[in-house]
Amino acid sequence: MLWKVLSYPRFRLTTLPTPMERAQRLGSELGVNLYIKRDDVMELCFGGNKVRKLEFIVADALSKGADVLITRGATHSNHVRLTAAAARRAGLEVYAVVTPPGSLALQGNILLDRLLGAKLVPVEKVEEADEVMLRLSEKLRAEGRRPYVIPAGGASELGVLGYTLAALEVLQQSLDLGFKPDYVVHATGTGATQAGLVLGLKLLGASHVKVVGISNGRSRGEMLSRLVRLVNSTSELLGLEVRASEDDFTVYDEYSFGGYGVITKEVVKTIKYVAEVEGVLLDPVYTAKAFYGLSDLVHRGVIPRGSNVVFIHTGGTPINFQYAAELGRYL
Ligand SMILES: *Cc1c(COP(=O)(O)O)cnc(C)c1O
Repeated sequence: MLWKVLSYPRFRLTTLPTPMERAQRLGSELGVNLYIKRDDVMELCFGGNKVRKLEFIVADALSKGADVLITRGATHSNHVRLTAAAARRAGLEVYAVVTPPGSLALQGNILLDRLLGAKLVPVEKVEEADEVMLRLSEKLRAEGRRPYVIPAGGASELGVLGYTLAALEVLQQSLDLGFKPDYVVHATGTGATQAGLVLGLKLLGASHVKVVGISNGRSRGEMLSRLVRLVNSTSELLGLEVRASEDDFTVYDEYSFGGYGVITKEVVKTIKYVAEVEGVLLDPVYTAKAFYGLSDLVHRGVIPRGSNVVFIHTGGTPINFQYAAELGRYL
């Protein structure tokens, strides 16, 4: 059944698989066998989880004859940066509607967006961003352009396919490294990453591997309904019978530290701790919160000591530069 995903049109943006490495010191301090799947290590402009989604999305845009991509995200959005880079790789233009939080100062992702020549459209109210994208799309079409709109975070059925394939990668690499994963833990936002992993594991007959999403803002209830919707619509797109229910997903929403984009002392301490112990750089919006969540779940015994845990580093490291002042407060 995974054949349908493997053979789906993709526009290659990076070499896969990404590395997966044992985090010996960090794991032994935590009390689990810890492996880090380095989705922050990719060729496309500092990498991150959006690259896998964009491989399927950009292929679709090209097949429909698009000449310009339109998307949206927070001002510090990794998705906007990577959509801009992917667009350029494919010879397309790119517009991005950007909303708070995050600074428009020329640093981090905003600097990269500008270097890539993304046309940024700042909008104050997040609720209006989708509408602004649609109006922009109509305007460009009226001018004879062929726009293609990508939802926030690349959270579409095509986006989900990126992590459906990544599930195969994780299992294959685990076997190569000589272990069987008990848990796959990662930051969850729009849900496409988690939906893809869960769908991929289902298609591989490996649903005993528990995927744990640490929400960086959305409530557990909202995440669960998004995840069910994404898995089911992706399965339908593939013409498969697989259907998900809320019981298929594990989401924790108590590690968002005040919500999306809020950076607290604990978040900065987590980035510093992981950097000092393992030499791996996390980010303050997604991966540091996810790693804090993982540590707490182990301390609480929810994830038993001695488990084999794969932490997916979903990227986001350029955000550190955008929030240098906030981070500096707690160094
Ligand atoms: C977008 C993003 C996420 C969340 O992924 P979703 O597929 O939207 O749930 C996690 N980590 C980083 C670094 C991201 O940029």
